[in-house]
Amino acid sequence: MIEKDKNNDGKINDDNIDDDKINNKIISKRDLIFILILLTVSIVIVLIMNFNKKTGYNVKISADGKTVKTLSLDKDDEYVFESDKGYNIVEIKDGEVSVKEADCPDKICVNHKKISNVGESIICLPHKLVIEIRE
Ligand SMILES: [Zn+2]
Repeated sequence: MIEKDKNNDGKINDDNIDDDKINNKIISKRDLIFILILLTVSIVIVLIMNFNKKTGYNVKISADGKTVKTLSLDKDDEYVFESDKGYNIVEIKDGEVSVKEADCPDKICVNHKKISNVGESIICLPHKLVIEIRE
C-alpha cells in the first residue's frame, strides 16, 4: 500500500504503512494512550493492594454516640477510655486496632479480633464504646 497521509510529518514509518492507510499516526497515539492507561491502572492496583490497609486511616472512638477520640492508624498508640461505667484500653499497633484491656463484664471487646480495614469496628456494649476505622 502507498502512504498518502497529509498529516505525515515527512518521515514514513515503514512498520506501520500497512496497518492503516488513512492515518496510522493517530492509531499509534491511541495505542500508546491505551498502554499508558493499562500501566497506570496496574500500578494503582498494586499500590492499593500493598498499602490499602495502613495508609491514612483513622481510628474513631466514640462513647454514647459522641466522638471522644480520633487516632491515626499509621501510628502505634494507646488510648485509655474511662467513664463511670468502666475503662477500656485501646491499642494501635502495626496498623491494627484492638482492646488490650477492659473491666466490662462480658469482655467481648477484649476478645474481638484485631481490626485494620475501613468499616470494621469493635463495640463494647456495657461501656457503650464504639471503635471504628474510617478513611
Ligand atoms: Zn467490653
